[in-house]
Amino acid sequence: MNHEFARYHRQILLPGFGEEGQQRLHDSTVLLLGCGALGSVAADMLARAGVGHLIIIDRDYIELTNLQRQVLFDERDVADGIPKAAAAKNKIAAINSQIRVTAIVDDINHTNIERYAGGADVLVDGLDNFETRYLANDLAVKTGRPYVYGAAVGTTGMAFPVLPHASGNAAWETSAGRNYATPCFRCLFEEAPPPGTSPSCDMIGVLGPVAAMIANFQVAETLKILTGNFDRVSRTLLNIEIWANEIRQFKVDNVYDTSDCPCCRHRRFDYLDGKAGSSAATLCGRDAVQLRHRQQADGVDLESLEKRLGKHGEVVVNEFMLRTRVTDRNGVFEITLFPDGRAIVKGTGDPAVARGIYAKYVGA
Ligand SMILES: [Zn+2]
Repeated sequence: MNHEFARYHRQILLPGFGEEGQQRLHDSTVLLLGCGALGSVAADMLARAGVGHLIIIDRDYIELTNLQRQVLFDERDVADGIPKAAAAKNKIAAINSQIRVTAIVDDINHTNIERYAGGADVLVDGLDNFETRYLANDLAVKTGRPYVYGAAVGTTGMAFPVLPHASGNAAWETSAGRNYATPCFRCLFEEAPPPGTSPSCDMIGVLGPVAAMIANFQVAETLKILTGNFDRVSRTLLNIEIWANEIRQFKVDNVYDTSDCPCCRHRRFDYLDGKAGSSAATLCGRDAVQLRHRQQADGVDLESLEKRLGKHGEVVVNEFMLRTRVTDRNGVFEITLFPDGRAIVKGTGDPAVARGIYAKYVGA
């Protein structure tokens, strides 16, 4: 055996792996979008499995409340105020010195995702909002790369590996004479839920084990993809409600056949092209950023949002707007929401910070 691979012996023994599979992992690059509850578990396991290059992008710093579920981090990281991507890189260097990690501290958006995704073979989702998921899905479909969706909030989690319909020549479209392409993320979720209707972890919490289950499922699917075991890749949408002891697998194979998906059917990449999603504009001289969600089908339900935000601070609501003040590690922010989905985040001139505050308190 290649002596560098000795550490992977228990994995090499597995069916569909062998030294050839290990070599494939060694030659692969995985892009981790976000390094929170899902991303930190996924980064840890992919590093241990011997994926040769991990690109980890995250805009955030580690907070004490992250430690309950974000397994790569510890109290020292909180005290030192280290960004998650950088801390992950440090930890992984001690876990597996044979692999390379690129840490990027930035907000992922349509202007930078293609550049950061560079030579990535698979995109792994550790994101906290729908908009960036559509963006990642656009990139995956456009460039013919697998995207492994995952999400966890409360005691619920979902996951699905997207093998996009590409040129017809992608490895998963021609594997042993079969086409293993799947529906894309946008086939499954046509529209993002209106702001305030899909609560974030910061608002309703998240159970560590459900996040770890989803992340490990994502890792297993990623390992199957990277080793070329496309016949083994899950073809169902996984849904876990661990507090109710419900584990469901939804059949979604037929979704592509009947879908009129703008992304994988019509090859329109609205999120990647910057035509859809929120646009952020810094409001001159006001220390505030305006966020506008262009693809907002329904209005925002300010009343239900008031109930939720009210638990965290004072909320003023009238028929024109809702306003609340939140205290975050980055400072004090005033969020003003309008029924059409527009929002103004006061207390920063940085669109990335404003988007983060919005995602955290208003929801994806
Ligand atoms: Zn699609």
